[in-house]
Formats: sequence, C-alpha cells, structure tokens
Amino acid sequence: MTEQTRFDLPQSAIPTAWYNALPDLPEPLAPPLHPGTREPVGPDDLAPLFPMALIEQEMTGAPWIDVPGEVLDILRLWRPTPLVRARRLEQALGTPARIYYKDESVSPAGSHKPNTAVPQAYYNKLDGTKRLTTETGAGQWGSSLAFACAQFDLECKVYMVRASYEQKPYRRMLMETWGSTVVPSPIDDPSHPGSLGAAISDAVRDAVGREDTHYSLGSVLNHVLLHQTMIGIEAKEQLAKAGESHPDVVIGSCGGGSNLGGIALPFMTDSRVRLLAIEPSSCPTLTEGKFDYDFGDVAGMTPLMNMYTLGHDFVPPSIHAGGLRYHGDSPVISLLVHAGRMEAAAYPQSKTFDAAVQFARSEGKIPAPETGHAIRGVIDEALRCKEEGRDEVLLFNYSGHGFLDLSAYDDYNKGRLLDA
Ligand SMILES: *Cc1c(COP(=O)(O)O)cnc(C)c1O
Repeated sequence: MTEQTRFDLPQSAIPTAWYNALPDLPEPLAPPLHPGTREPVGPDDLAPLFPMALIEQEMTGAPWIDVPGEVLDILRLWRPTPLVRARRLEQALGTPARIYYKDESVSPAGSHKPNTAVPQAYYNKLDGTKRLTTETGAGQWGSSLAFACAQFDLECKVYMVRASYEQKPYRRMLMETWGSTVVPSPIDDPSHPGSLGAAISDAVRDAVGREDTHYSLGSVLNHVLLHQTMIGIEAKEQLAKAGESHPDVVIGSCGGGSNLGGIALPFMTDSRVRLLAIEPSSCPTLTEGKFDYDFGDVAGMTPLMNMYTLGHDFVPPSIHAGGLRYHGDSPVISLLVHAGRMEAAAYPQSKTFDAAVQFARSEGKIPAPETGHAIRGVIDEALRCKEEGRDEVLLFNYSGHGFLDLSAYDDYNKGRLLDA
C-alpha cells in the first residue's frame, strides 16, 4: 500500500483559538443551579472552586476564545496530533467507507485529557492558586493534571477511586513521578471501593476548605469541552489535506463528554455531519438516563446541572473503561442528544473489546478500553456502509492508548471478561 495514511500539520499550525459551541447550540443551555437555594449560580458561587477566567469561559457567548501563548508552548510538546486513515481496518472490514482517526494518545499522559489540564493549571497559576485538588477513576485525568501542575509548579492532590488505587498502581506511579500526592477515596471509609461521584465530593471538600486551593474537573463542564475543541479544529484542516470535504459521521466514546465534544463540536453547525456518542450499556446515561437537573457528585455539594443522568447515587458496575463510569454527562452533549442533533448508542463491554482487538490486529495500536467503545461504533457504521454500498467518511477520536490497561486485555484473551 503506497497510499498516504497520515495527515500531519506542522507545529506552527496549532490552533490559536478554541471554538465555543454555546452561542451555536440549537437551544440555550439551562443554567446550573445552586445546591442549597436551587437558584441559578452566579460567578461568585463558583469562585471558591475555580479561577475567574475559567468561570467566564464556562458562561461566555463569545464564539472564539484565544489560547494563551504559555498554554500553546506546552501543548506543542505533542500537538498538532496526527490524523490517520485506517486503511488496514477498512480492508479487514471490506468496507467502502473511508475511516479516519485523530490520535490523541500521543500526549505525555497518553490521552486527550492534557488538552484541558494544561489551560486549567495555567489559569489557576495566573490567579495565584498554589494547590489543585481533583478526583480520578483509573488515573487518566489525575495523571494529566499531575503533568500539567508539574509544568506550572503547582501542588496537586488527587483523590483516586479506592478500587483503582489498589488494583491499578501504574497511573498512581505516573502521578507521583510528576510530583502529585495521591490518596484513596472515599477517605473516611477504608472499606468502600469508591466511585467517581464520591471522589469528586472528597476533592471539592478539600478545595473549599483551603484558601490556597482550587478544584479541577477533567470533563463534563463547558470550559473543558471548549479546551478539547482543538481536536476537531485540527481534524477539519487535516481532512481537507486528505481531500475530504467533510465527514459523514463523527464518533467518540462518551463518559463525561469531553473527547466527544472536542472532536464533534467544531462540526456541529454543518448539517451534513452526523454526530454519534458511544457509551457502555452498563452505564447508559444518554440512552437510558433521564434529562433532568442532578448533582455532579454523590454528596450533593456541586451545582445541579441539566443533563442526562442515571441519578447521582447510581454506582455503575466495575468495567475496564473506568473513564466512562459516570452517572451524568456534559450539559452541552446532553442538550445536543435531547434536541436530536446527536445520536447515542450503548454497547456491552465484550463487544467493545472485540472491536478494540480487531483494531489492534489491523492497525497495530492497542486502544484504551474507553476508546474501544468509539471503535465499536465506527466498525458498525463501516459495516452499515458495506451493506448499503456507501463510501462515507467516518471520523473518530482515538482518545487514548491502552498500555496501562493490559490486564483488561489479558482478561479478554483468557476468556475472563464478563459483561456486567
Ligand atoms: C477519560 C477518558 C474518556 C472519557 O472521558 P470523556 O470526558 O467522555 O472524554 C475516554 N477515553 C479516554 C482514553 C479517557 O481517558
């Protein structure tokens, strides 16, 4: 095969502004509500948790937001990321579809998450914050924030879901190597396996209790999706280089909605493009949740957000795609699904590993279990194209690599992987 499979942008072509989807949404976003009064929250309510620049980004109607030079200098360590045409997967499937993926696994932490960790650490540093707290499930977000805090000389304390803390030591080691402190959550109950919602409560409680400390969230919020739009902005330019006018379908796995939002939002106003979210059927927020106000955490300390939710006390079964085990979802993604602009599908774990392994055997790369969900969606779309004889362009986000998830592949290879 002599045909080109990689479409790179020079370092000088890194996007210098983020795309803000808020003014282009099909309906206005319902405001977050104060957990005590149930009145809309204002900037001052959020000030104990976030620096004002991020609070402004959370609410602004400006269509584009400039990326600070200090942030670009760090993102350039790995951005722009490659756009890859998965020709060998196309061949393996015998599909006329053209499959492209944006490879976000090339970042220092191995996923898309540093795209927002870096600007969040930057705006906190600028604001005089000395210390950040956060939660992490399997450790993808915690390690991304640990990397970013090291760049800006900020202290970082990570509350890690206890089950992962005990069973998945490698990302804890990454965080500690980048200089962060990691503790198992919930801190007040050593017998509890923990959950993302409970770890958020621990991290928020710590941040509001200290003057020098802010809190940082790796997904769900508007400013997080904003920072991730770099992915889609670059992809648009790279698809043009590949000779494609537009993708027919854009696909991403959906936990809190940030990698999906990052690749999909820049295509949102193009009505030719279908947008597709893939989630686990054991945590089917978009496909079976209720569109309603709910808390972001278990203890009910965060503002209420209007989103698809399974209930803030929902504890999803333990699956290997830890990053997709969240009871709620980004309000922006939820609204797009509710308004019919985005579709959603759910798959059981075994089907996503079938897809991840097929990808690994054809394209070579071993995806994160979360990314395996997107690949499942892509393969099914490619098979539909084969059945219908359509040469559609499918674009998906390769949100991370699976090198620290090999025990999950071992379970799959040995026939021990169960569907919850
Ligand atoms: C965290 C994570 C996800 C899910 O989070 P989103 O905010 O929905 O993107 C997906 N893929 C990888 C590799 C992750 O680390």
